[in-house]
Amino acid sequence: MSITQVRNLLPETFIQQSQQLLGDQMPAFLASYDAPRAYGLRFNPIKLPLLQWAGDQRFQALSSLFSLEPIEWCKTGFYYNEATRPGKHPYHAAGLYYIQEPSAMSAADALEAHPGETILDLAAAPGGKTTQIAGAMNNQGLLIANEIHPARAKILSENVERCGFRNTVVTCATPDQLSERFPIFFDRIMLDAPCSGEGMFRKDPDAIAEWSPAHVELCATRQADILVHAARMLKPGGRLVYSTCTFNRAENEDAIAAFLEAFPAFKLERTERLWPHQCRGEGHFVAVLTKSKDADASADAALSSSPRPRSKPKRNDRRAITRPGNGHANLTAEMALFESFAQEALPRLALGPGEPLRFGDALYWLPHDAEKRFGAFSLHGLKVVRPGLHLGDIRTKRIEPAHALAISVSEGEAARAVSYPADSPELAAFLRGEALQAPDGINGWTLIAVDSLPVGWAKASESQLKNHLPKGLRRLS
Ligand code: SAM
Repeated sequence: MSITQVRNLLPETFIQQSQQLLGDQMPAFLASYDAPRAYGLRFNPIKLPLLQWAGDQRFQALSSLFSLEPIEWCKTGFYYNEATRPGKHPYHAAGLYYIQEPSAMSAADALEAHPGETILDLAAAPGGKTTQIAGAMNNQGLLIANEIHPARAKILSENVERCGFRNTVVTCATPDQLSERFPIFFDRIMLDAPCSGEGMFRKDPDAIAEWSPAHVELCATRQADILVHAARMLKPGGRLVYSTCTFNRAENEDAIAAFLEAFPAFKLERTERLWPHQCRGEGHFVAVLTKSKDADASADAALSSSPRPRSKPKRNDRRAITRPGNGHANLTAEMALFESFAQEALPRLALGPGEPLRFGDALYWLPHDAEKRFGAFSLHGLKVVRPGLHLGDIRTKRIEPAHALAISVSEGEAARAVSYPADSPELAAFLRGEALQAPDGINGWTLIAVDSLPVGWAKASESQLKNHLPKGLRRLS
């Protein structure tokens, strides 16, 4: 495409706005629309700790299979060759990596999440930042991943499950519902804000069609609104990372400047911009803010009373959403069933601080925060998609272990595990949902793995491994 053709493709006001931002870099920016797209994936450190990469055969194999090249701004991120389709590899089903646009990997590391903290990802679907933050937390502490749109919240929840995180609660709430429930609560908050998506123009023509100056203005108003809630929920001394995949100043620098003016307890640590003509990625904006240690609670309370429109989800898909209410019910009998299963099948399992929760037949382990301010009572009345780790489903006098549990454990925690090579016919058959031949002498719940990475449960009996991979995850071809 020539630069003239690119100009004809893009909205005139967008071109003028970009010209003002970029000056003599504008031709290079326009030329980037004709450059090949970059594809990225990020390794999941709870599946493969960073320090073990060098000697790990699975990492070496993927490195050459997908032609991996490091992404300079993300220590777990790599470019891959699109033709190699990493989403189809069994290691993807095992949660070894998450596929993500490379420049979008710049924001979550700026949050500097640590194990044991209490963290909120306020606009989280489909889960790129959530899975990066959860990886840094190493399953310790509490991560609340929230998504306002129910259908997207379900996808977020599936990604949390596939990556095997135990400390993540997925909610489907508006920012004001959360800030009312969790004032001055989080050590760190990620706000990857809904935006006008100018960084999507290269890969999504619909993003161009939806763009208009009025839409930019609407997004900026919505971002200001959401930021108020984020400010209220952050503890003194806490860190807030704001990011967008758009280029205009209104949704980026101007949004941050207005926020700082309104909330002097916050300090801007730095901003970063990735441009598609300067890096291999679609572009991203990141602002890192900290809240003063001396910020007082009364100022935070005032934040909630500033006038703002209420955020509401557009769609009303309530599938897979639960409303906790019975968190305090006595679950001794259910936990006894689980413990008897765990003793037999997962004798080395340690769940970490938390409490059991039951929704219908499903039994969950709800993670607690370090300060014990969070529990089942905290979720009362909120829409919750995943209240922590799904342990299993209660049946008559037994428990059927959940797929999420299989993906969250390691081979070493299981009493019985059968691991197959990634390219073996047995593994392909398991992923299609077929039964397998059981190794001699094993009986009971058995973890099935690909090169030692769990992919699901099978139940061994009479020389057969009966397949318990959820139907929705089976691969037909
Ligand atoms: N952080 C995600 C990731 O890394 O995969 C991407 C988030 S996307 C940029 C922004 C999200 O904000 C969308 O999932 C969108 O549904 C959600 N959203 C839209 N309107 C919202 C609102 N008023 N309040 C909070 N979130 C909203």
